[in-house]
Amino acid sequence: MNDNNTYKVGIIGFGPKGFYGFERLVAYLNEAKVSSTIQIHIFNTTAFLASGDVYRTDQPAYLIMNYANRNINSWVVQEPFSMASATPDFVTWLTAKGHANAAPGKYAPRSLVGGYLSDCYQMVLEQLPKNVVVVAHIGRVTNMIQQNEDYHVFYTDRKTGEQDIVACNNILFTTGHHSFKAQKPISETFGNRIDFIYPTNEKLKSVSAASLVAIKGFGLTAIDAILALTEGKGGKFKKNDKGVLKYFSSGEEPYKIYPFSRTGLPMVPRNGSPTSDAQLYFFTEAVIAELKQNRPISFSCTILPLIKKEFYFTYYSVLFKNYGHQFYFDDDFTVMENQVQYFHEDYPECPVFNWETIINPFRDESVLSTVVIQVYIQFLIDEAKAGEDKSPFMAAVATWRKISPIFNELYSFGGLDAVSHKKFDSYYFGLFNRLSYGPPVKNMQKILALCKAGILDFTYVKSASITRNESKNNFSLYLENGKETDINYSINATISRAKEGEFENELYQNLLKNGLIREFENKLKAGYKPGCVAINKDGNAINEDGTINTTISFYGTPTEGITCDNDTLSRTRNDFATVWAKATCEAINKKDGSTENYEREENVL
Ligand SMILES: Cc1cc2nc3c(=O)[nH]c(=O)nc-3n(C[C@H](O)[C@H](O)[C@H](O)COP(=O)(O)OP(=O)(O)OC[C@H]3O[C@@H](n4cnc5c(N)ncnc54)[C@H](O)[C@@H]3O)c2cc1C
Repeated sequence: MNDNNTYKVGIIGFGPKGFYGFERLVAYLNEAKVSSTIQIHIFNTTAFLASGDVYRTDQPAYLIMNYANRNINSWVVQEPFSMASATPDFVTWLTAKGHANAAPGKYAPRSLVGGYLSDCYQMVLEQLPKNVVVVAHIGRVTNMIQQNEDYHVFYTDRKTGEQDIVACNNILFTTGHHSFKAQKPISETFGNRIDFIYPTNEKLKSVSAASLVAIKGFGLTAIDAILALTEGKGGKFKKNDKGVLKYFSSGEEPYKIYPFSRTGLPMVPRNGSPTSDAQLYFFTEAVIAELKQNRPISFSCTILPLIKKEFYFTYYSVLFKNYGHQFYFDDDFTVMENQVQYFHEDYPECPVFNWETIINPFRDESVLSTVVIQVYIQFLIDEAKAGEDKSPFMAAVATWRKISPIFNELYSFGGLDAVSHKKFDSYYFGLFNRLSYGPPVKNMQKILALCKAGILDFTYVKSASITRNESKNNFSLYLENGKETDINYSINATISRAKEGEFENELYQNLLKNGLIREFENKLKAGYKPGCVAINKDGNAINEDGTINTTISFYGTPTEGITCDNDTLSRTRNDFATVWAKATCEAINKKDGSTENYEREENVL
């Protein structure tokens, strides 16, 4: 701890993003041929290093990716190149290991991706420079204080439960999903209220057969929970001779599962094909440059109309093509509207583009039924199977995936005015996520099969509320219209995000108290705190008094709110890892150099 000749780097949270930071740091250290001793201290709550919680290798195989194999690559082709013994992308790795489902368009089990990530970590460890030592600490970091030039990192060892302190000179925070999760006191948790579903094997084990279960959320996490309660309890999915997926009960699953969410809508599934490389027509370079010049940007007045036009153009490009026509772009939007009008005169049976129908076909209905949702899921499955090439609907919703990196540039570091920022975080983020980053078709077919088997019930899917009945030790799930059912288990299948007024994670609260960080506030035209740390454009912390601290950096989900959409395996999205690794290597070199100079001066004297 007091060894002044050793530079100590801490990486707090070692899922995929922690690994990416580590990999870059080792590559820079290698290139710079740093001679001093460097310790890299890795802190992670579990021993699943590099895979983290989301890709832990011990989870069941039915918990799959929502991202096709072709998109997964732990490496970047960027100088300094990695010194790892090999740098295979996921498909190459799967093929080399002899896995049957190595096709680029397939969706792998998340545990397999975890295996890949931890192999990649080993490949870097194998080639570690001799002067670099890696020390892994398995446990939760709860606090960090500054002592002169050191940071004392407090963590609770997972095995012993004892608290330990490690001194570091430079820290990277990559705490992922936990960044926004408050640690609940034990007194607030009950056996039949499950606040977090991972690891599903452990957390959902106690849910008994024939029970009534309410699931809050209808996104990817809810699908994981539903599969864990059915397939995970021994049920089987099999296709019948017509190719329709059927569920065969094990008798161990709940009697009814009631998902519920604000909109009541399922995510739009995907078929694994790559997103088309057709260009964007309205987010042109000139438009983007102009938007950047005119910050703060209004989302609803400036960006949303462009998004709607992109959706419209893509929708009709595919619809026209399906009928042997071509839809022509024109700078004058009315010229395109005229083409559309003539088209619909010729083909009145074709559905007209309607933004509201795409984003929420049941907006005006306060209650939805199981039948309505079942029909809608079937529609989504059919469209997803047709894919972006053939389905105008799928082509339209896929457009967001192309807009998203551009939007991230416009949004980041307070690019939107405060009101727009809040509106985007609280409404549009979820909407675009639901439309563009949905599960594989296979998972939606399973949801449909469970609905047909009578296990999944959508009676309460839209805007239900749940309350606890202390006396009966159960819950009531109810709608405003008075409809109500008893519930034995209440499961929260949502993942915490940055949220106004909810910057509650214990570690980040302590950093705040210790003056090491401050909360980000967008003050453009109004005031809005998205619930995340303030950072500069290199991911460095901005402390209590507004000073930039280059020895504390953040990467990934902790930066959500000041940057956008970090919930991904992507190595390029908001890549603060590279900047951090480069700056850390320079700081080590500087320290090395100054020590050498100092020694030389001493010799002269
Ligand atoms: C159900 C689900 C499915 C997903 N599917 C996909 C997908 O198909 N494709 C995709 O690109 N993305 C997917 N994601 C998004 C996923 O979050 C990211 O791909 C990825 O996990 C982000 O990596 P990360 O390292 O930032 O965070 P995480 O994976 O969350 O890793 C953070 C690590 O930090 C540790 N940690 C946190 N706090 C502390 C602390 N105080 N002390 C010590 N350790 C700590 C955690 O235990 C964890 O190991 C999915 C997410 C979920 C929840």
